[in-house]
Amino acid sequence: MLPTITRRNLHLAGAAMAAAPLLGWRAADAAAPFLNNQAPPFHRFRVGGFEATIVTDGPLVLPALTDVLPDAPRATLTGLLAANRMPTDRWTGPQNVLIVNTGRHVVLFDTGMGDRSKVLGDNVGQLVPNMRAAGIDPASVDVVAITHAHIDHCWALVDRNDRLNFPNARVAIAQSDFDFWTQESLLANRAAFDFVQFTRTNLLPVRDRLIAVRDGAEIVPGITAMPTAGHTVGHHSFVIESEGRRLINLGDVFHHHVLLLRHPEWHNIFDSDRAAGAATRRRMLDTLARDGTQVASYHFPWPGIGTIARDGDRAVWLPSPLFE
Ligand SMILES: [Zn+2]
Repeated sequence: MLPTITRRNLHLAGAAMAAAPLLGWRAADAAAPFLNNQAPPFHRFRVGGFEATIVTDGPLVLPALTDVLPDAPRATLTGLLAANRMPTDRWTGPQNVLIVNTGRHVVLFDTGMGDRSKVLGDNVGQLVPNMRAAGIDPASVDVVAITHAHIDHCWALVDRNDRLNFPNARVAIAQSDFDFWTQESLLANRAAFDFVQFTRTNLLPVRDRLIAVRDGAEIVPGITAMPTAGHTVGHHSFVIESEGRRLINLGDVFHHHVLLLRHPEWHNIFDSDRAAGAATRRRMLDTLARDGTQVASYHFPWPGIGTIARDGDRAVWLPSPLFE
């Protein structure tokens, strides 16, 4: 309850302020706690007649890039990071989750880490509350389109109590990724047990509501699948098209906006087929730099919307203007 302002207590407040220097009061000593949070983290834009929103699931704390890209010459890798004013000894990766409302359907692309595990950082698992902050009801999602079945992309299909986070949604995923990551035999690998167990926990409850993702298959009108295997056996990107505008959701084709655009050939330890991952990056880089299609990239700097261009023999990331 606020104190009632009267002429008398205004007078007393003024007297107290006047006396403050005598009492040793200094504004700089006020010990307000650091808030360590941000404005509601979403970004909204249009793709033709569709409304798109990027919502963050929170930052991932990942291994150092020198470990993730082990065949990259170390001096070249750290030199590129330093030249781009990025740390060389640690890597924090955004999770930019795309949601598209076509006017007829709401499609969520990937789910973030969920609320079950902090294995990749304490501030993950923000997707559902941030969707609500962006005005999107999780119950309004018609389709969850999964680019691939890694933990930061499918672990919020259910919450920590095994309830569906998106109760009215079908789930579009490549059958090959679903089958691979739900294999019971993978549980025998003790090092990967949690990883596989929780992936099964998320995928098995939606097995009766799957949409099989295939090359060129329409997920809903205006959204089709594009195979980009390598990172996982069934990794797919999604092409969103409306009124002559196009956006390609790349998922994890590229994990880093400088290193893997400049050196798509560097093998990534997170790729299940490292040679195929590199081949997919080269192919997509050539196409995207030539045609300038706007892309959404899950781990690029927030909000991960931009185009790829060539600057001489280098490929560079051009973030889209946020306010057009
Ligand atoms: Zn990822």
